Amino acid sequence: MMNSELNSKVVGRGKEFFSTISGEKPSLFNKGAWMGKVMDWSMKNETFKIQMFRFVDVFPSLTTGKLLTDHIREYFGEEKDMPPVLSTGAKVAGMLGSFGGAVLNKVLTTNIQEMARQFVVGENTKEAIKNMEKLRKDGFAFVVDVLGEATLSEHEADVYMNTYLELLDSLKSQYQDWKPLGNYGNANLDWGHAPKVNVAIKPTALFCLANPQDFEGSVEAILKRVRIIAKKVIELDGFLCIDMESYRHKDIILEVYKRLKLEYPDYDQLGIVLQAYLVDTDQDLPALLKWARDNKVKISIRLVKGAYWDYETVKAKQNDWKIPVWTIKAESDAAYERQARMILENADICHFACASHNIRTISAVMEMARELKVSDDRYEFQVLYGMAEPVRKGILKVAGRIRLYCPYGDMVPGMGYLVRRLLENTANESFLRQSFAEDAQIERLLEDPIVTVEREKAARAAKQKPEEKGPGGLKPFFNEAMVDFTRADHRAEFPKQIAAVRQQLGKNYPLFIGGKEVKSADTLPSVNPAKPSEVVGVICQAGTKEVGEAIAAAKSAFPAWRDTAPADRAQYLIKAAAIARRRVFELSAWQVLEIGKQWDQAYADVTEAIDFLEYYAREMIKLGKPKRVGNAPGELNHYFYEPKGVAAVIAPWNFPLAIGMGMASAAIVAGNCVVFKPSGITSVIGWHMVEIFREAGLPAGVFNYTPGRGSVMGDYLVDSPDVSLIAFTGSMEIGLRIIDRAAKVYPGQENVKKIVCEMGGKNAIIIDDDADLDEAVPHVLYSAFGFQGQKCSACSRVIVLDAVYDKFIERLVSMAKATLVGPSEDPANYMGAVADDKAMKTILEYAEIGKKEGHVLYESKVPSEGYFVPMTIIGGIKPEHRIAQEEIFGPVLAVMRAKDFDQAIEWANSTKFALTGGVFSRSPEHLAQARREFRVGNLYLNRNNTGALVGRQPFGGSRMSGVGTKAGGPDYLLHFMDPRVVTENTMRRGFAPVEEDDDWVA
Ligand SMILES: Cc1cc2nc3c(=O)[nH]c(=O)nc-3n(C[C@H](O)[C@H](O)[C@H](O)COP(=O)(O)OP(=O)(O)OC[C@H]3O[C@@H](n4cnc5c(N)ncnc54)[C@H](O)[C@@H]3O)c2cc1C
Repeated sequence: MMNSELNSKVVGRGKEFFSTISGEKPSLFNKGAWMGKVMDWSMKNETFKIQMFRFVDVFPSLTTGKLLTDHIREYFGEEKDMPPVLSTGAKVAGMLGSFGGAVLNKVLTTNIQEMARQFVVGENTKEAIKNMEKLRKDGFAFVVDVLGEATLSEHEADVYMNTYLELLDSLKSQYQDWKPLGNYGNANLDWGHAPKVNVAIKPTALFCLANPQDFEGSVEAILKRVRIIAKKVIELDGFLCIDMESYRHKDIILEVYKRLKLEYPDYDQLGIVLQAYLVDTDQDLPALLKWARDNKVKISIRLVKGAYWDYETVKAKQNDWKIPVWTIKAESDAAYERQARMILENADICHFACASHNIRTISAVMEMARELKVSDDRYEFQVLYGMAEPVRKGILKVAGRIRLYCPYGDMVPGMGYLVRRLLENTANESFLRQSFAEDAQIERLLEDPIVTVEREKAARAAKQKPEEKGPGGLKPFFNEAMVDFTRADHRAEFPKQIAAVRQQLGKNYPLFIGGKEVKSADTLPSVNPAKPSEVVGVICQAGTKEVGEAIAAAKSAFPAWRDTAPADRAQYLIKAAAIARRRVFELSAWQVLEIGKQWDQAYADVTEAIDFLEYYAREMIKLGKPKRVGNAPGELNHYFYEPKGVAAVIAPWNFPLAIGMGMASAAIVAGNCVVFKPSGITSVIGWHMVEIFREAGLPAGVFNYTPGRGSVMGDYLVDSPDVSLIAFTGSMEIGLRIIDRAAKVYPGQENVKKIVCEMGGKNAIIIDDDADLDEAVPHVLYSAFGFQGQKCSACSRVIVLDAVYDKFIERLVSMAKATLVGPSEDPANYMGAVADDKAMKTILEYAEIGKKEGHVLYESKVPSEGYFVPMTIIGGIKPEHRIAQEEIFGPVLAVMRAKDFDQAIEWANSTKFALTGGVFSRSPEHLAQARREFRVGNLYLNRNNTGALVGRQPFGGSRMSGVGTKAGGPDYLLHFMDPRVVTENTMRRGFAPVEEDDDWVA
């Protein structure tokens, strides 16, 4: 807690501050104006707020009157039902009733543009400079920022950088003529010490592929353009601040700053932003100060609370990462005060920019600076342009120096910034909202945040719910956390594990039958597809003899395994999950080398395998309890499940651990015994399943590992009369062949074979005319080319509406051009080698077909060694073309131009497959239409269409994509069992025991 004497001074100063601005309101909360009304309505009505902010987001892409009218209706209803705040403008214009949309269009357009202008100092350099000069006349310094959110290509990064260069060129001819702020007798510096030119940059807008997975590459690529801007800023004796963005890029940005700083050790006017809402900042700040001392350089820190709180919490929750931000608002306030003090204590080496609109925070900084006797030239205050006008006036009066953060530029990137500001100001926790829109008690607003934290924590503890329990007393199912490359230890683990795995390459792998390792004379090497001379392992191949032995072993293990209690069977899966979890990085490294998965893709495959184990274990515990059906008294009907017998599990190479483990663990936990055939090219990964199940103590014969040549043993396995169930994932041709062969009954066969069959896809993503291309372009690229397009869920057709076709393609191709193709063990490579030479040949053939059917929009370069095929984008494709109909299973993307959304949906549905699909649209009606009419097993709206998660996106398709099963879904295990019902008449001599749930006569 702040010492009470200081705290009293802070509160006193805060009160004084409030009294000097009493009666004033920031323009945002002025209910006399349209924006103030919208803000007021948004704070009272959450649904309206969401619709309004979403509308603001889509607004720049509504480029025709019709699009605008349609969206107004879709977002806000018919004019008669509209909230008055929207229709008032039209009513005032006297057009109510008959305006038919046109007036409302105009009113909304004008008002939203006005709203954006509130926060943006100009739409171009000239206008921005003119307005900043006006601000200077009123006594405000500026820090200018070019709006830039998502940069998707080298070209866009250059445009962003060049705008800065143009800005700096324009400033160069003018800034020296500006009268300095304050009367300190130095013509060149504001307040006697501060450069007049002050520029902020968003580092990730300077490199389109910034990604912590490729930490070094991202740092250097950003730095390349930062250097050019910095050089020019320095020529103007200006100040350059590197803004902080989302947590994902925090360490990259810090590193960029440090490297830049060391290039200009004597130039003090280089700053960075730290975010007090990040828990890490309590370590990052002292580390940065120490670094500065060690390197004998002076630095500058702008401390903010942080602008991405909602994003950070949602992302962390979605990926099961530790939440990187404080979760009690006052914790961020307290962290701010703590960190501000530390910066002020180091004022000799660190200049401080206090960026806050919170009067308590500002007062605390003022009082701490006074207590620590920090001179005025070592700290300053900053607020955002367009916000908190009374606060900025108050600061100017008290401190005499304040800087406004002035973004400028186009409306489109401006909307992301505008939405953040609207959210910030309407958040319940916002100091400005509480002070100026809700007139909260001043005492409360000025309270020491540590006191608030304690009160909040106590209130939360009182509300804490008891921990939830899942089936069998286990924790409820949770998805395994994704790899988190913001963590240096996760980043370091991959090269380390890849090096360790490399030491083990080339070993021989036996079969595993009846709990014993079995060698066969026939062997097959598995190689690194990026370097085929590198043998990953040499694997014994099962012939019909060995497969026969495996089936026999499974058959003999079956009765005991069937009779093992479901909850006990589930425990083996839980143990297996723990083993895979312990080995997650090592297992991932094997995937990088054996099948060419990128680091994140490899890790995701292992975590999906863990998810299947955890999920099916819980599902089986639930299903394992007989269920009473019907409640008539005197009768007990019990519905329960029994396994089918021997299951042949035939797995693909593209998710070598996840799909294999998913199918096998479902069969096993349901009580079946498995004969597992991995793909020949990923049999070493298949062997890891042996290791995992063996360590988990699974009884002999329950899991048998029989890699082999499909041509030698495939039919034998499928035809065996002792096999009752076949779980297969792979191509449609083989899937249909299995279904066909399995229909035949052989002598001695006891069961009709059950087939669980996942086959191919020809998945489309539709890009609507109002889609957010900043999102759509990277997601389509990732869906089409992540793991070289070799996922059954991958996007292989993108259907783009005519209105946005050119823009979308231009951005997609430019982004594709920025990517690199090469071995996946190097995280700089976006795309790696395809599975094997056969795949390479087929894909290249399809690319040639595509080139004849359409025209090449982009074809990447490829390394000379390895099974690489170019990233290929082909335009001019029509639904009847082969590359729009046939599954390619590789990095070839067909692009189709549709005249409208109806046609796009028709084309999307026009293949024989129905696996995944995607739509990027901000039209509520089109999204609803897609839900109804885009008939695929997994439809993704406004996101990539790969990466289904167990339990959250149960996966599988229909038509020729599969038999309608959903891996990782609540009914998957039912396909591996037969239901039985036992009915007992409990009435004896007219007497029936009473059951709790009997339907007795009332
Ligand atoms: C000059 C300037 C430059 C800026 N540059 C950046 C930048 O580079 N990067 C950046 O991210 N932001 C930047 N910002 C934006 C800044 O992060 C927000 O304006 C600021 O967080 C608002 O804080 P406040 O003290 O004004 O208001 P307050 O109302 O006191 O604080 C609001 C803030 O509290 C935090 N918060 C809200 N709810 C919770 C919760 N439940 N638990 C914990 N914390 C919570 C959030 O950070 C929220 O923004 C900048 C702001 C200014 C003024």
